[in-house]
Amino acid sequence: MKIVLLAPPGSGKGTQAKMLADKYGIPHISTGDILRDNIRAKTELGVEVGSYMEKGELVPDGVLVEMIRGRLLHPDYASGFLLDGYPRTLPQADELSKILNERRNRLDAVLYIDVPDDVLIKRLSGRRMCTCRASYHLLFNPPERDGICDHCGKKLYQRDDDREEAIKTRLEIYKQRTQPLISYYAKEGIMLTVNGAAEISEVFTRICRLFDD
Ligand code: ADP
Ligand code: ADP
Ligand code: ZN
Repeated sequence: MKIVLLAPPGSGKGTQAKMLADKYGIPHISTGDILRDNIRAKTELGVEVGSYMEKGELVPDGVLVEMIRGRLLHPDYASGFLLDGYPRTLPQADELSKILNERRNRLDAVLYIDVPDDVLIKRLSGRRMCTCRASYHLLFNPPERDGICDHCGKKLYQRDDDREEAIKTRLEIYKQRTQPLISYYAKEGIMLTVNGAAEISEVFTRICRLFDD
């Protein structure tokens, strides 16, 4: 299974991708998680991308293309992957096709999670993260102990880009740069859409139904 999750910030890509990766045993590649790990480790890449990310802007295509090419050519991903957060622009989508073509491969499906803007804003503003990559929501998906990760016991934090100004920027950029990819993949006949305005477990059931058909 070679799958792309193409949906707005806050739609539940990360949450659903983790559950799908477990169920189907395919590796989950989140470009956002990889970039945040680099920022935390203060790598050269992390220093380069930090200021874009905290404002909610996209990191330049060249950086992402290099990162994704290196990963997808690795044998671990030869039989399948779940791409979460890539591609986000037309040049990134073209590059992905090129990488797959080189290996005589193609995407099986692109999943769009449909969620209205007002719900996206509520989800993003209440999101809390752990450095182990787990994510929670203050109201919709709280940890067992206030502010503490269920998986590793570390203290949760709020992402800089989950604050009001950056959320606005991200939703605008999504509409301008990423939304056009829906018709790009629709032309290839591989778009699947799920209504994501429901509880986490219900959205998961809906997605599995689509994949199992
Ligand atoms: P994305 O990766 O698309 O930005 P996340 O998976 O991180 O989205 O989800 C954003 C926030 O919304 C998180 O706080 C998460 O716990 C919460 N969330 C995800 N899916 C749902 C849902 N179906 N209903 C309510 N809250 C959700
Ligand atoms: P969300 O799903 O909540 O929007 P992500 O964790 O996927 O958040 O991405 C966080 C940030 O990382 C983006 O706002 C952007 O700055 C950067 N980023 C991640 N993936 C890409 C990409 N494919 N192209 C450009 N920037 C990216
Ligand atoms: Zn944790």
